[in-house]
Amino acid sequence: MSLYDPERRREDPAARVGMALLRLSQAVKKLSLAEAEEQGLTPVQAQTLLFVRHTKPFLTSVGRLAAELGTTHATAVGVVDALVRRGLLVKEPGPFDRRVTLLRLTPAGEAICRNLDRLGQTLADALARLAAEDLASLERHLGALVWSLREAGALQVSEPCRGCVHFQEDADPGAPEPHRCALIARYLSEEDARRVCPDFTPVTLAGTGGAGAG
Ligand code: SF4
Repeated sequence: MSLYDPERRREDPAARVGMALLRLSQAVKKLSLAEAEEQGLTPVQAQTLLFVRHTKPFLTSVGRLAAELGTTHATAVGVVDALVRRGLLVKEPGPFDRRVTLLRLTPAGEAICRNLDRLGQTLADALARLAAEDLASLERHLGALVWSLREAGALQVSEPCRGCVHFQEDADPGAPEPHRCALIARYLSEEDARRVCPDFTPVTLAGTGGAGAG
């Protein structure tokens, strides 16, 4: 029986919560479509530009983008090529491995990203109306659900370095790149550390065999 079956929902709390999440995802999709359309973009194009804007510059490959979008590599290539044709993205070889192509925003792409700052704001406004303790509880429970879905390979979760088990803050104090990532054995600037990374592994999951290096 699917979550859409009202009989199942009547008997099963997990089915009721699952249905609520499905309805939420439909609402988010509809809102995202309207918000992206205001900028002349599809939601996936908007997500792609925001991925390039917020991800560490050495991780903006098409492969990483495909994982973020939950699409095939070929689909991600199509999305990227359309944005390149519109003059919003450019491709360049990676600084550490020139076989890897990285994505960069053009000035026009940067400008559109600034207009996308309100993407998701309708949902944030609705959540902000919840009581603080309800919001904290929701954050805890949904967070656990998100990480278990990441464990199952259903989605990619990108976060900045602080709170990651691999992050070594101020490993080289005073240097232009003072922080270090033990996973990739590379030093990071403060700007790099603030941008998101799909290999983020929360300290709380360390030692559980949890989130992988990807
Ligand atoms: S693995 Fe962790 S420390 Fe390394 S770059 Fe990613 S988020 Fe930062």
